[in-house]
Amino acid sequence: MKQSQSNPQMFTIDLSKIEGKGDFPCPSCGVTISPEDESDSVYSILETKVHDETLEELVIQCNKCGSKIRLTGFLPQN
Ligand SMILES: [Zn+2]
Repeated sequence: MKQSQSNPQMFTIDLSKIEGKGDFPCPSCGVTISPEDESDSVYSILETKVHDETLEELVIQCNKCGSKIRLTGFLPQN
């Protein structure tokens, strides 16, 4: 697999298949990404998709390597 700085890869992560609190390593650089971290220090949120007030999908960008990561499989809260 080649790395390309001008064309960051898009990854998809299904959070329903992740154990624990939902933390996962960036598929590209391995930095730990926590969906509950809203500080923007590790990643930036690019896009949110909400359906019937439930978060369905989140597209984030890793601030370390620039990869885009699509998060799916959000479980209903509350
Ligand atoms: Zn990364």
